[in-house]
Amino acid sequence: MATSISERSDEYDVVIMGGGPAGSTLAAMLCRETRLRVAVFDREIFPREHIGESGAHPLVPVLQASGALEKVLASECWIKKFGGIYQWDNDRPFVGFFEHSDYLADGVHRWTIHINRAEFDTVLLDHAESCGAHVFQGERIVEFTPGPDVSDVRLEDGTAIRTRYFVDASGRREPDRGARNHTRQAVAVGVQEYRCLVALPQLQARTAGSRGLEHIPRG
Ligand SMILES: Cc1cc2nc3c(=O)[nH]c(=O)nc-3n(C[C@H](O)[C@H](O)[C@H](O)COP(=O)(O)OP(=O)(O)OC[C@H]3O[C@@H](n4cnc5c(N)ncnc54)[C@H](O)[C@@H]3O)c2cc1C
Repeated sequence: MATSISERSDEYDVVIMGGGPAGSTLAAMLCRETRLRVAVFDREIFPREHIGESGAHPLVPVLQASGALEKVLASECWIKKFGGIYQWDNDRPFVGFFEHSDYLADGVHRWTIHINRAEFDTVLLDHAESCGAHVFQGERIVEFTPGPDVSDVRLEDGTAIRTRYFVDASGRREPDRGARNHTRQAVAVGVQEYRCLVALPQLQARTAGSRGLEHIPRG
């Protein structure tokens, strides 16, 4: 059964397929930094099961930039961890601790978090909605048909939604081929796509006030 507190519009600037960390973080950033009308559709109802996991080091600054860090830290979904890299290369064996040289220089530990994904992902998706994204849970996108200016997205119940940009943030599991086969105007999402989207001419009228996020590591 689909659930949402957002009233569905039949047209958006950006439709995001998938409300995992990629989709919800992008939605939060777009809503905080632009006036784009953003919708996130996820086929599951949150909290949904998801394995793990251990956050990589750049996670914390990304959460900070999206405004979700405080909410994550206020939840019980995480434990703090430090980290290291062990390289068993016969010629150049290597052990390094994340930002260990920085720690030696200023005594400040760089850290990240282990997370319970079901709860973590729910905090991020709720955050996206609180930033102004229209979030629809239990709604699967089954088809994406690109057009020259406006594209069509079709939901499983047959509803058609028009969007100026479509973002595929559906992760890697069980791809919905109907939506994924048409990638001409779709973006395989990463946080760095935020900068690509706000630079698009067809979206610029609504991106006034957006700022760069140069401090966010790529990848
Ligand atoms: C076994 C395993 C262990 C891992 N361990 C780690 C780890 O320790 N550290 C780490 O950083 N990464 C780890 N990863 C990778 C990490 O899980 C992924 O990189 C991350 O989940 C990607 O986030 P995402 O938002 O792109 O996709 P997801 O979290 O997969 O979210 C995609 C969302 O899209 C929705 N969706 C899919 N299709 C549709 C559709 N047609 N319509 C609407 N919604 C749709 C899904 O319901 C889902 O909620 C691991 C992965 C696996 C498989």
